[in-house]
Amino acid sequence: MNGADWIVVGGGSAGCVVASRLANAADPQLGRIVLIEPPSTLAPPVDRERPANWLKLLGSSEDWNLGTSENAALAKRVLRWPRGRGLGGSSRINAMIWFPPTSSDLQNLIDASGNAWSLSELQQELENLTELVRPEQPTWQSESADRFLEAVSSSHHGTAWPYLRLNRSGRRWNPAELLTPALTNDRIEIQRATVNRLVHQGDRVIGVEIWNEYGTNQVLANKGVILCAGAIATPGILMRSGIGNREQLQQHNIDVRIESDQVGQGLQDHLIMPVVFQVKSKPFPSQPSVRDIARWQTMGTGPLTSNLAECGGLFLDDSVQLHVTPTHYLTYPTPTDHAFMTIGVNASQPLSAGILELQSKDPRVPLLIHPNYLGHGSDRETTIRGIRLARQLVTETSLSKWIVSEKLPGKKRHSDEDLGRAISRYTQTLYHPAGTLQFGASQSCVVSPGFAIRGLQQAWIVDASVLPGLTHGNPNATIMLLALQAAKKIIEQTT
Ligand SMILES: Cc1cc2nc3c(=O)[nH]c(=O)nc-3n(C[C@H](O)[C@H](O)[C@H](O)COP(=O)(O)OP(=O)(O)OC[C@H]3O[C@@H](n4cnc5c(N)ncnc54)[C@H](O)[C@@H]3O)c2cc1C
Repeated sequence: MNGADWIVVGGGSAGCVVASRLANAADPQLGRIVLIEPPSTLAPPVDRERPANWLKLLGSSEDWNLGTSENAALAKRVLRWPRGRGLGGSSRINAMIWFPPTSSDLQNLIDASGNAWSLSELQQELENLTELVRPEQPTWQSESADRFLEAVSSSHHGTAWPYLRLNRSGRRWNPAELLTPALTNDRIEIQRATVNRLVHQGDRVIGVEIWNEYGTNQVLANKGVILCAGAIATPGILMRSGIGNREQLQQHNIDVRIESDQVGQGLQDHLIMPVVFQVKSKPFPSQPSVRDIARWQTMGTGPLTSNLAECGGLFLDDSVQLHVTPTHYLTYPTPTDHAFMTIGVNASQPLSAGILELQSKDPRVPLLIHPNYLGHGSDRETTIRGIRLARQLVTETSLSKWIVSEKLPGKKRHSDEDLGRAISRYTQTLYHPAGTLQFGASQSCVVSPGFAIRGLQQAWIVDASVLPGLTHGNPNATIMLLALQAAKKIIEQTT
């Protein structure tokens, strides 16, 4: 449809929130929105609905199936990087954990805005978001989570809690649900296509170039375009629109519109090291029993409601996040006769940062992802401290009687060197890429605290790419908070 008022590119966590907020704003003069999300096919309903099946969504038709380049510090391993595809974006396939921004996450946002934002406005938006999302208390908890939470509460090492979930009555929920009222009253139209680049008239962005089964086309909008395609795809759209590093763009015969070395830099992710214990319990089911299916279907409870990463918290002065699963982190859901508990350890504020690299101006070719994991030595040291803490929690509390043995890194690995090698070999992405277009008050930032692309009119960005650094915990709540904040700022700028 041509002649929309707004185009929102990408119907993921941020895109759904920003589109629904614009569409549900009291002022009908704001007009109509076209939300553009690439076509996708659905994974089987059992995997889409049952929280415990979320690992099966990875690699499915709802996943972009991205991967990193070889990671030098991870024993040259290439990591698979799932990214959600379809309305709801990565919230469609994620672990559903609701981890609101900590007070220092909020302060980091305020600092990045150059104090243009206030704590009270962010707190108000977080309240608004929580009312919209209504994260749910878990309705069931594994023995691993019960015992871990009890152990932490009896120790002096920090606090842990059962994570709230993006669920409704024990079923997966994602922010695409927020679009329903606006779809019903015709304020939003969904168009299934992939966006290649922005369409300009001088400095004014008037639409986007898309492609789908009908070929290449343009979608135009009167009031502007909001990019929400995520931490990897949004920088790609900018580069193909001529915004980025001059040499890189020229190498691919792209005319330079705005020269910026910032686009695709600053890539960060949480890297998780599983500390796996065999425990005296029954294995967490990899195939549900008839009874468990009936419990889930009729009462929305039982092991099928588990999101696996059921509980956790921040430790060691918030430098480390621990997550607990009732499984062997690296082998589940392969059936096993043994029961396991994993304490996943990650540095909450890693200092390593990587880059994205344009491979081709063809939008079907994904950007190269170079995460530079552990590029900064302190990230490995922090992770080692986290492993030692997980061991301490197990040996110094009631967990000690329940544990059969430590399987990973394994009790033979004690020295920093041994643990460092285990980190290289076994760590995994926690699926939190961010920061590739960090917003900021400085003129060198492509995105302003008003979410506008500097040097253009009628173009904004909000998604994980604009985060000025990783959140201490899981980022989805903060990204959706940014989306509400962006909707507010965009409305202020345009009405
Ligand atoms: C497996 C997994 C588990 C996770 N678990 C958690 C968790 O438990 N808790 C938590 O807080 N966070 C979790 N995360 C992270 C969180 O889900 C993401 O950080 C968040 O969803 C990112 O939001 P976004 O809006 O930036 O991008 P996305 O939600 O990924 O949305 C981007 C959207 O843009 C679309 N798109 C891409 N390219 C184009 C294009 N060219 N044109 C148009 N549209 C395009 C995509 O299809 C997608 O719908 C997880 C992520 C994954 C992948």
